[in-house]
Amino acid sequence: MQYFRNIVYWNKLNSNNQKKILLRPILKTNYSIKNTVQKIIEDVKNKGDKALKKYSLLLDKYQDDTFQVLQENISRSSSDISRELKEAIVTAKNNITCFHEAQKPLKIDIETQIGVRCQQIHLPLNSIGIYIPSGIAPLFSTVLMLAIPAQIAGCKKIILCSPPPISKEVLYAAYICGIKKIFQIGGAQAIAALAFGTETIPKVDKIFGPGNTYVTEAKLQVSSIFNGPAIDMLAGPSELLVIADHFANPDFIAADLLSQAEHGISSQVILLTPSEDLAQRVIISINEQLKKLTRLSEILIALKHSTIIITEDLLQCAKISNIYAPEHLIIQTKSPRKILDYIFNASSIFLGSWSPESAGDYASGTNHVLPTYGKSLTNSALGLADFQKRVLVQELTSQGLINLSNTLEILSSAEKLEGHKNAVKVRIDFLKEKYNG
Ligand code: NAD
Repeated sequence: MQYFRNIVYWNKLNSNNQKKILLRPILKTNYSIKNTVQKIIEDVKNKGDKALKKYSLLLDKYQDDTFQVLQENISRSSSDISRELKEAIVTAKNNITCFHEAQKPLKIDIETQIGVRCQQIHLPLNSIGIYIPSGIAPLFSTVLMLAIPAQIAGCKKIILCSPPPISKEVLYAAYICGIKKIFQIGGAQAIAALAFGTETIPKVDKIFGPGNTYVTEAKLQVSSIFNGPAIDMLAGPSELLVIADHFANPDFIAADLLSQAEHGISSQVILLTPSEDLAQRVIISINEQLKKLTRLSEILIALKHSTIIITEDLLQCAKISNIYAPEHLIIQTKSPRKILDYIFNASSIFLGSWSPESAGDYASGTNHVLPTYGKSLTNSALGLADFQKRVLVQELTSQGLINLSNTLEILSSAEKLEGHKNAVKVRIDFLKEKYNG
């Protein structure tokens, strides 16, 4: 049986259909989800832990007097994990640490003119919340992606929330990343707790982490409230675009497309290739390989809004990819780095036959929290900078101020800000009096 056979020729489509073929599946954030989330947020804001208990029972069938995981249970998680898995987590941790350590920004400390010293320093965010999704499966790899840059940045207060019952893998990943405050609470109620604080869960300044539509909607709502927390991004359903030529291995491409389609029913995968022959072989391989995968029903729905597009040449592939601005972009061509020169919009790029997206999802070292839904047009993958803030420092000597005073007085007068001009003038008058008088 052929499950997947969506194939189109780009140059045969009119411009309307070209746009249509690159549309993402409609995000299922309808009014009912918005209202549900709004109600949960209001409840948690007004009733604190009492509301958390109610929603934990209602939505996660979980009942307990406390949400906080005891320190001894965090430390004990190590004994519940196989040696094999522990080693894999540690390898991933080392690579993610290595890549994020390298993102430490250069210190800027320069004299813009004599006696005028300007600096840019980087300070950690004071308090952050990290949300680890766990509805369908506990995504413990996300603990590494969030906690490692937070620790490198030097964030002092890190609060982790994940739906109950929290998995031993999440606990172990948190343990080796040195996270001590862990709460078993999920969904919109966890985001609301982090945004406003409750009797047991501390309020934070910024909330990080992906999640389902309830979590994403909650992040959107709390961050729009005046004085609400900042958020990292709205990390939507996963997407993958592959650019390939006839040198590529069709089985590798099929496997990569399926690996993203299995993320969920709203995921989307696209193959761009000038080779019809490759396209046909990829279709055969997809239909063969998907039979062996466990999440077949999700994959089949995701494949309904996924397509293979035949292009004129590789340059056209790059142009279409730039319009789509994918979350993940795999380039499997004879010379992938040549194509890279033509790519302007993508969140995370995988070059060559030996770079499956799974490598970036888990352990190559790059972050897997990425802008989706075309946001790579202006936004970037999560990185160390998201856990820090830039602070500017300036220090003028008396001679520096004298040198700059004329410029400052002219500019402030022109903007009719006499107070600004005066703040310079009183100092210059003081200096004149001291040295001349
Ligand atoms: P989740 O932790 O996000 O959601 C589970 C919570 O949803 C539960 O605790 C429950 O409280 C709440 N919930 C469930 N049904 C509800 C309802 N009817 N009303 C109100 N609340 C309800 O876990 P998940 O469901 O497995 O979703 C994880 C998501 O994260 C996936 O969609 C995945 O694609 C996405 N993700 C995205 C990225 C990225 O970088 N873009 C990375 C990893 C995961």
